[in-house]
Amino acid sequence: VRGYEGRKVAVLGLGRSGLTAARALLAGGAAPCLWDDSPEARANAEAAGFALTDLTRADAWDDVATLVVSPGIPHLYPEPNKLIARAMAAGVPVDNDIGLFFRSWSTPEWDEMEQTPKVVAVTGSNGKSTTTALIHHILKVAGRPTQMAGNIGRGVLDIDPATDGEVVVLELSSYQTELARALTPDVAVFTNLSPDHLDRHGGHGGYFAAKRRLFAEGGPDRAVIGVDEVEGRFLANQLAQGPGDDRVIRISSGTKLEGPGWSVFARKGFLAEWRKGRQVAAIDLREVKGLPGAHNHQNACAAYAATRTLGLAPKFIEQALRSFEGLPHRSQLVGERGGVRFVNDSKATNVDSAAKALQAFPKIRWIAGGLGKDGGISALKPHLGSVVKAYLIGHSARDFALELGETPHEICETMDRAVARAAEEAEVGETVLLAPAAASFDQYPNFEKRGEDFAARVKALIGA
Ligand code: ADP
Repeated sequence: VRGYEGRKVAVLGLGRSGLTAARALLAGGAAPCLWDDSPEARANAEAAGFALTDLTRADAWDDVATLVVSPGIPHLYPEPNKLIARAMAAGVPVDNDIGLFFRSWSTPEWDEMEQTPKVVAVTGSNGKSTTTALIHHILKVAGRPTQMAGNIGRGVLDIDPATDGEVVVLELSSYQTELARALTPDVAVFTNLSPDHLDRHGGHGGYFAAKRRLFAEGGPDRAVIGVDEVEGRFLANQLAQGPGDDRVIRISSGTKLEGPGWSVFARKGFLAEWRKGRQVAAIDLREVKGLPGAHNHQNACAAYAATRTLGLAPKFIEQALRSFEGLPHRSQLVGERGGVRFVNDSKATNVDSAAKALQAFPKIRWIAGGLGKDGGISALKPHLGSVVKAYLIGHSARDFALELGETPHEICETMDRAVARAAEEAEVGETVLLAPAAASFDQYPNFEKRGEDFAARVKALIGA
């Protein structure tokens, strides 16, 4: 981190991102003052060799240049944070690691480089991780130096110094965009918007406002915007100077976008790129096994558009899409035998994401259940048409069975039995899908372990 040499910088929240910020500040010659409300986190920081500063003391804020807040700490809603309120009262600017990153990003060494490094930042309600990982994958396959960070993998202040032509791909959550004082990516991506984290942002408007900050004046040179919701359409309209402005690339899963501007959309299994009223490229997404379903086609459009703005050719992108294996536990293909596919969407812990998964495949042997959430699965009724049969596991198995009514189902209790029964009964062209629509904590420590268990049993069964 540059710009704080010899100055005090307060760091609130000593989880992974706070400690990374502390290290980066020290490396840049600043004097970090570290604090966390939790005694446990403070003890961890001390054990890692950091000194603490009691930021609850009235005189603690004298001469503090800035306050760096961890993304886990709500600053306004549902309750204003007391220490952040104190910093504000003392006139201390509030920031986070993302803000520090953007301020320190370009370096004098860049003047020697042929191609200046660039930042692509991805935000939205769903598909952020998949889109981020996909952009990173496409760049890697194309031979461009690239690093991935943010809400995925490592913290932004852990990124290695950029090399010639490098592209850093960042996943940014609304918590991160809300607070950062500098947000200047070269390319910014907005995937979609659906209600989420509303408590934390004081409602839907606050949530949208947090994400929009990535697209403020002086922000990105290029904006890739999902226009399937009214918020995205509005944002795209506001950013474009006129109908043909190709700083804005509109993307959609389902809607034809053939106007005079630049657009990328997916329909009926094909991705199309249009520019100035003409189709310039098309890709058959049915050949892209790692990205099943309309929701993933939206992610493919976003990643395609972002990498096009970086100068990659459609043919290259198409090849790279085909070798993407998907992120673990998100519609991830883990095996195939005798025309039956086995897909792990253990991340589908709620009804919304399970609904997307159920729409992604035509004939499904559905493994579901776990620790059910309020409302059960009644909201899934409109999406059960693709379910050939459900194999129910975990605590909610019996409740789910009642709600399934006419849809064929069987109570299996365990993953072992569910995988075995589904595999035994599945026919050519069907998909055995784990999309639990429930939390995992009744049988597993987390959704990752549940997904790993599914994948291991599939592999044992089909000998992959
Ligand atoms: P995020 O990082 O925004 O949480 P992920 O890529 O991790 O997104 O996906 C989270 C869940 O949402 C998964 O269950 C996945 O199948 C589903 N999903 C992925 N992409 C989309 C999308 N574009 N629209 C809606 N749901 C999606």
